[in-house]
Amino acid sequence: MKQSHLFTKTKKEAPTDEVSKNAEFLVRGGYIHKEMAGVYSYLPLGLRVLKKIENIIREEMNQVGGQEIFMSTLQPKENWEKTGRWNDLDVLYKVTDASGRESALGPTHEEIVVPILKNYISSYKDLPAAVYQIQNKFRMELRPRSGILRGREFMMKDMYSFHTSEDDFEKFYEKMKDVYKTIFTRTGIGHITYLTFASGGTFSKYSHEFQTLAPTGEDTIYVDEASNVALNKEVLTDEVLAQLHLKKEKLVEKRAIEVGNIFDLKTKYSKPFDLSFTDQKGAKHVVLMGCYGIGLGRLMGAVVEALADEKGIIWPDSIAPFAVHLLALGEEAEIAKEADKIYETLIKHGIEVLFDDRAEVSAGEKFADSDLLGIPQRAVVSSRSLKEGGIEIKKRTEEKGKIITLEELIKTCLKDSTN
Ligand code: ATP
Ligand code: MG
Repeated sequence: MKQSHLFTKTKKEAPTDEVSKNAEFLVRGGYIHKEMAGVYSYLPLGLRVLKKIENIIREEMNQVGGQEIFMSTLQPKENWEKTGRWNDLDVLYKVTDASGRESALGPTHEEIVVPILKNYISSYKDLPAAVYQIQNKFRMELRPRSGILRGREFMMKDMYSFHTSEDDFEKFYEKMKDVYKTIFTRTGIGHITYLTFASGGTFSKYSHEFQTLAPTGEDTIYVDEASNVALNKEVLTDEVLAQLHLKKEKLVEKRAIEVGNIFDLKTKYSKPFDLSFTDQKGAKHVVLMGCYGIGLGRLMGAVVEALADEKGIIWPDSIAPFAVHLLALGEEAEIAKEADKIYETLIKHGIEVLFDDRAEVSAGEKFADSDLLGIPQRAVVSSRSLKEGGIEIKKRTEEKGKIITLEELIKTCLKDSTN
């Protein structure tokens, strides 16, 4: 894509109404646009990142046997009354139409997914099952100040699994732990994301969070660096430490962002809707459930919070909006022509490239924009680079670049995109 065609522009100044790093850089870069507190639109660059995250998550959900669906956002009040959450869930958005009918805007989808599955599950032969969706959620979060980390409207992947026995559930739950690890590794935060024990609420002993280390994180976790396991602060009791065979003095306190979590729901939502099955002997049992969430915007914001430097964003290769940021510097016709040729050649090789072809923009501005946008590779074409025989390539994370040929540039980009 040519930058001169991109309708969004970068901004030099930080927005005055944002306090978080992710919102500052993403708004300045033209990735997102704020509509109101906790509500953002995704612009071309931001949507490219979000889609890459989405695709990685989808591949992994399919891999574990999940079947993708897309459930309604507008949800019947009766379903929410049945589980008691119409009155109990303080973040629930309630809407009233002209006839006075009340509905909920989905903050999560247990109240929808269970009645759907009830239509199709009656026997042990229908189980296990796992369904998921990638969809917007609505939650009345109080004073959201963390940019896309905590939205009132935000994108989530939510999977729900259905089982005949604890044993079957446990096996699937363990598989999901591994799948989540793979997702965070593939999105470039595996090395700073910890499986974290958290309190399970009333219906199970633990839940597990996936916490990404970031100095600005909302949560405090305690990491056991030897075993790579962490605990959320709220579960840090002597009893829990003993159960997990962890020693308090070995734990290191860190700030982190919860990018995902997985829960044992037992029969909490299947019971109110009487989602049940008959076993081999014809006896009836309530279906056991698990649920598994990942916030896509939360993950994207966490990457910015965790990896950015003072100049801007640093995207991992796998979720970057483009693989390479090609900069044409100088007004000479020869440079424009050469840069154009490189651009066309990269595209022909299937390499995703953002081409800063803007005339009358100084080299300094182009460099600053490139650092802000955070595309993994920067390729500069200038009279100097041409004189030295090629293109100056530099990783976003490197201080100094080096001159390489177009063939070498293609090889580098193709190698990175297969990681
Ligand atoms: P939190 O503890 O951060 O309030 P939660 O425990 O309520 O979140 P779930 O309801 O289990 O989260 O949602 C699953 C995932 O969705 C979370 O792990 C997080 O990544 C994401 N998420 C939750 N709330 C938000 C939000 N307001 N904005 C963006 N992402 C969110
Ligand atoms: Mg949580």
